[in-house]
Amino acid sequence: VYSQILKQLYPDVPVIAGGIEASLRRVSHYDYWQDRLRPSILVDAPVDMIVYGMGEIPVTQIADRLAAGESLSSLTDIPQTALLLPADVTPAPDNDNIILASFETCLRDKRSQATNFKHVEQQSNRMHGATIWQPHGNKTVKINPMLPPMSTKEIDASFDLPYTRLPHPRYRNKTIPAWEMIKHSVNLHRGCFGGCAFCTISAHQGKFIASRSKESILREVKQVTRMADFKGYISDLGGPSANMYRMGGRDLSVCEKCMRPSCLHPKPCPNLNNDHAPLLDIYKAVDSLPEVKKSFIGSGVRYDLSMHESGNEQIDRTNRRYNEELITRHVSGRLKVAPEHTIDHVLDIMRKPSFKQFYEFKKIFDRINRTQGLKQQLIPYFISSHPGCHEIDMAELAAETRDLNMHLEQVQDFTPTPMTVATEIYYTGYHPYTGEKVYCATRPEEKQSQRRFFFWYDPAYRADITRALQRLHRPDIIRKLFPAYRDPRQNDRNKSKKRR
Ligand code: SF4
Repeated sequence: VYSQILKQLYPDVPVIAGGIEASLRRVSHYDYWQDRLRPSILVDAPVDMIVYGMGEIPVTQIADRLAAGESLSSLTDIPQTALLLPADVTPAPDNDNIILASFETCLRDKRSQATNFKHVEQQSNRMHGATIWQPHGNKTVKINPMLPPMSTKEIDASFDLPYTRLPHPRYRNKTIPAWEMIKHSVNLHRGCFGGCAFCTISAHQGKFIASRSKESILREVKQVTRMADFKGYISDLGGPSANMYRMGGRDLSVCEKCMRPSCLHPKPCPNLNNDHAPLLDIYKAVDSLPEVKKSFIGSGVRYDLSMHESGNEQIDRTNRRYNEELITRHVSGRLKVAPEHTIDHVLDIMRKPSFKQFYEFKKIFDRINRTQGLKQQLIPYFISSHPGCHEIDMAELAAETRDLNMHLEQVQDFTPTPMTVATEIYYTGYHPYTGEKVYCATRPEEKQSQRRFFFWYDPAYRADITRALQRLHRPDIIRKLFPAYRDPRQNDRNKSKKRR
């Protein structure tokens, strides 16, 4: 809509789309709100180019080359851009060029869409990816490879620009909840190597971490401390995952060839350096500023990363200290973590670690709270209706979290967003990497019945949950959730025994 308006107002001015929406719609993709497969946004919107991912470097390259007299239509080789070109420029497939199934083929054949996704995800997560081509009618979408991760100097240059740190002036005197949440927070790095199946971060920022220098971070913290309403509390020293600062492969030559979508799943990569020392150093430097009373970690912490035993005694000791420091000094009452489910086969599709690791972390959390006399809460996030999750899995989740004495509140029902492996499974019914069929709750009543299990403690849901568990032949779970429950069939059997 915006690009159409711009083209009407200024037909001769090129329009380049960017940001996460354009980024995630660069190839054919499933749109949940319209419940249909859509072509690349380059086909739907009258834009001349998309810059995908974080755009500082491509935008600068485009500006430099336009300033040097080149036309926009000749800029077909800028990294991290996507363009719509005549179909006859498509090269033959080779190591540097991957030709996807066409949009029209994907419309007819969901398996082709699933296979396309695997290529797109793998290339987005490579240090030196191939160019991707996807035919759309008599045109082709060309997606130039992602740039390697920014150097510290490059990312510092971006964060050190003279931002106002204020909302747009039109919001003056209005409260913006999202702004309230982030105004005293500082971002330490970009990228995420977790590769969670439902998350779009790596499709946008990639899996390699680009980290700011300590000096750049401290400059920004000092800027925050000078804000009129700053009371001494930094609300978040974070990133896409809070604790990936300065992490990556030990041997970068191995990472250069790597196609894994996650450095943590199915098992932490032996080449991954999970040393939390640089992050502890940042926490210490921020906390020693006289204007800072406390700094909190509001972004999600990957406890599987901080608890992973690397085999290097010094790193493992530092990481244990990280957990201690995090829990004693950087939690603002409640620490949010994201196990997302309790059942292994669902967690496997989510690309999350086993729930056993949550128990391990909870033990550490409870012990530190006990010994330090703290009364902090651990708040786990969960998702229902994720691909691969059956109703019975949600029943087991309810029983397990009840055993843990938890009344869940941070929960969500899976909503597909473009360009995630979970969305491709939801739409196509196939796992893009194995080709196997995967069950997915798609009908509203199926989704509702899964979601209900989060709220087993609410009397309003008790009858429905009981009926569902009777249908699933799981009276044991009914008794776990509602100890006062008496199976009516058992009562009938008892009565007839007595009569006999
Ligand atoms: S750390 Fe391992 S999984 Fe991650 S990019 Fe390097 S080689 Fe690949």
